[in-house]
Amino acid sequence: MAQEDIFKKLIAHCKEYGYVFQSSEIYDGLSAVYDYGQNGVELKNNIKKYWWDSMVLLHENIVGLDSAIFMHPTIWKASGHVDAFNDPLIDNKDSKKRYRADILIEEQLAKFEEKMNKEVAKAAKRFGDAFDEKQFRKTNPRVLANQKKYDELHTRFAKALNDNNLEELKQIIIDQGIVCPVSGSRNWTDVRQFNLMFSTEMGSTAEGASTIFLRPETAQGIFVNYLNVQKTGRMKIPFGIAQIGKAFRNEIVARQFIFRMREFEQMEMQFFVRPGTELNWFEKWKNIRMEWHRALGFGDDKYRFHEHEKLAHYANAAVDVEFKFPFGFKEVEGIHSRTDFDLSQHQQHSGKKIQYFDPELNKSYVPYVVETSIGVDRMFLQVISASYCEEEIENNGKKDTRVVLKIPPFLAPVKLAVMPLVKKDGLPEIARKIIDSLKFDFNCRYDEKDSIGKRYRRQDAIGTPFCVTVDHQTTEDNTVTVRYRDTMKQERVATDKLGEIISRQVSFKGVFEKL
Ligand code: ATP
Repeated sequence: MAQEDIFKKLIAHCKEYGYVFQSSEIYDGLSAVYDYGQNGVELKNNIKKYWWDSMVLLHENIVGLDSAIFMHPTIWKASGHVDAFNDPLIDNKDSKKRYRADILIEEQLAKFEEKMNKEVAKAAKRFGDAFDEKQFRKTNPRVLANQKKYDELHTRFAKALNDNNLEELKQIIIDQGIVCPVSGSRNWTDVRQFNLMFSTEMGSTAEGASTIFLRPETAQGIFVNYLNVQKTGRMKIPFGIAQIGKAFRNEIVARQFIFRMREFEQMEMQFFVRPGTELNWFEKWKNIRMEWHRALGFGDDKYRFHEHEKLAHYANAAVDVEFKFPFGFKEVEGIHSRTDFDLSQHQQHSGKKIQYFDPELNKSYVPYVVETSIGVDRMFLQVISASYCEEEIENNGKKDTRVVLKIPPFLAPVKLAVMPLVKKDGLPEIARKIIDSLKFDFNCRYDEKDSIGKRYRRQDAIGTPFCVTVDHQTTEDNTVTVRYRDTMKQERVATDKLGEIISRQVSFKGVFEKL
């Protein structure tokens, strides 16, 4: 099935099974804003716990923070967001559709990459085990021609971004023959800059309201609390501050479901280090973060690092962790070496000394910062798209398909469903008793409607790792059938062993031990 079709199915599945709803749906929706349903919120909370605990529990020199969304407007002047938090936009005059110029060019680059990968895949099939991919990429004329096109475009694109040269960005789009996917035409406007921050008014107009911004990142809340946390927590450098919270960006193009939203959630950790050591820490955090992703078991080939074409105004090194979504490799997390830019700017704009006295060096300095910044929603999309499977199975001798979300059990919204085989003979009461004994430790569901087969399918679609069936034998020997989501294997176990079996597989500890 084409990746686009899989993605469409995934979106429909998220709605049907209470994961993600379009915001304000009964009013025809609000573009690029989404709500999380009864299962979505549980998965989201588990993802946040996975991140939070891996930062705050596993590192004794990282502490948490929850800063407000509203902040003093000067913070955004100091951080550079008022002047430089822009995206280059371009309109197609025929379709009247708006695009990000940089994304149009990135998609063109991806096309060259795709062509090369197709050649490689074809040759790999032809040559089998004897295939030497490196050698093939170095010598095949079609791969080399596309690589040349890729490199030339990449160099030109990176230069245009770094020079902030909007005319050149437009020229690239024209020279590459990039067309609007809707109208198919090359009738483009000039490229303009567009600031992504939302603003609102604080205070009543009578008393002179001031314009404030909805934060476009959570990081600044950490920087302006640096002194508070360092002093009250008696933190010694190196140390980190972690925060999870909402961020808002008036994205020009909002496509790809929850990948690019106007209201979203970030998990950011700012790690404060001694000047001169930041690039070592940058490498360390790059590896730690990649391990965190890989520990989910979706396959190492689903991830890659992507170096930035253009460094942000505050950074001296930056890399993205990209995940292979159904629509290609895309950023889920950024790791940035932010130098002392933010703290120095706040020191200057606030007039407060923001420094650290390093007893080992016997001197004070403005700390350098390495940041890890990941979107909860993109992480959610990663988990859902890696977990979604359609499997051919036998059902009473007939071929059938089952849709199953193979979410890692520790992240699954519902851990177990308890089902009485029939709605009589005391079986529902036993099922309820089992839930009562397990509900303090696990999110349990009771399900008595439809045939057992249908109930299993419903739980597969939600991603519930364990189904527990209570039948007549249970009334005699206190055993139940446990059915495992991924293998569909069933086993008979004693009711009082359930807690142990389930906790072994759904514990965060098991994953943390791998990190
Ligand atoms: P992009 O290039 O995709 O616009 P970015 O480089 O601007 O992303 P950062 O500013 O580095 O993103 O933000 C850190 C993380 O926050 C991203 O890796 C992503 O996971 C998340 N994020 C950023 N913008 C959005 C958005 N509009 N919707 C959902 N998540 C987002």
